[in-house]
Amino acid sequence: MNINFNNKRALIRVDFNVPLDAQFQVTDNSRIMAAVPTIRKVLADGGSVVLMSHLGRPKEGPTEKFSLKHLIPALEKELSIKLKFADDCISENAFNLSSNLKPGEILLLENLRFYKEEEKGNVAFAEKLSKHGDIYVNDAFGTAHRAHASTAVIAQFFTNYKTFGYCIENELKSINKVLHEGKKPFTAIMGGAKVSDKIIILQQLINKADNIIIGGGMAFTFVKALGGNIGKSLFEEDRLQTALDILADAKQKKVNIYIPIDAVIADDFNNDAQIKMVDVNCIPDGWMGLDIGHETEKIFGEVISNSNTILWNGPMGVFEMSNFESGTKSVALAICEATKKGAFSLIGGGDSVAAINKYNLAEEVSYVSTGGGALLEYIEAGTLPGISAIQNNN
Ligand code: AMP
Repeated sequence: MNINFNNKRALIRVDFNVPLDAQFQVTDNSRIMAAVPTIRKVLADGGSVVLMSHLGRPKEGPTEKFSLKHLIPALEKELSIKLKFADDCISENAFNLSSNLKPGEILLLENLRFYKEEEKGNVAFAEKLSKHGDIYVNDAFGTAHRAHASTAVIAQFFTNYKTFGYCIENELKSINKVLHEGKKPFTAIMGGAKVSDKIIILQQLINKADNIIIGGGMAFTFVKALGGNIGKSLFEEDRLQTALDILADAKQKKVNIYIPIDAVIADDFNNDAQIKMVDVNCIPDGWMGLDIGHETEKIFGEVISNSNTILWNGPMGVFEMSNFESGTKSVALAICEATKKGAFSLIGGGDSVAAINKYNLAEEVSYVSTGGGALLEYIEAGTLPGISAIQNNN
């Protein structure tokens, strides 16, 4: 961030879409922590801060459970400073508060999505919001894939006075390091439930990666397409040809694709179900694959530990259940090992981040992305509405 905020009001779009419990206490403050460095930078320069965000998906305007006022205690604790709060983001009172802010002060605006104009990308609403600040800072990577009023449309009202915050800067640095500047071999590990969610990203990765590891429920569409018996494992009938096309494209481009050779199978989608380990092509009728097997863990682990650049999105099995978490955990540990040896590792996408956190390994990988959908869309499209709005000067 090459801007000096001295005597300026920074209008910062943050991603404070944090989980709250029944008492409205913040249960995971990582998104708050991600915004702190940018807020501190503005205050240290001698500027003031107006924070704006959405929280949840309110459908009917102002709703108590989606009020950003619930975040005030957590924010005040983290920043060691008292906050001002505007209970409506574009009311007269809100503009009074923002126009009277003094250097060192912070104003938090109420949930932007209490106005449907936010998600519609309404220009007049964006223009109103823009009056809260002298400089627009986008630091909400998690919503940068949405062309909403506060994430993209608003940027046009700050021609030369707009910038990314540290959170987005770091996200972009990490993605670029993986996609454009990474040391070879580059291994992409894809998992999760469905092939259909990951087709475009797989097609993109074939042009970049040396190795692609496929695990999770999506692997069974590949196994079936190749003629294996997958019992009642998850698979997508209409994606069998896509799976074959992806394999053929990878072969032509000399990208190694690794799919599981064995699986942990169960007779029910349940942690107490009967389980067995079998060849992935020989899953009996009535049984389903819920994790990769030990032989697969070894192969995947070897590929990962010989990699210098690693991208991981999606679990290898139903890691939420202890009997089917071994594959996901072993991949997480292999990534940490490779990172220790000097590889750059980026973990992105909701469930792999959840897995890394479950095993307390976030500190042992190079970067954990704050944006699931945003990261995937960035890799697919090469940019995002919230990114290009800052980069394009018009
Ligand atoms: P996604 O959101 O597509 O990354 O999918 C994540 C979800 O996929 C997690 O909740 C996992 O439990 C689930 N998953 C992973 N492997 C399997 C599998 N073999 N069968 C069914 N669900 C799976």
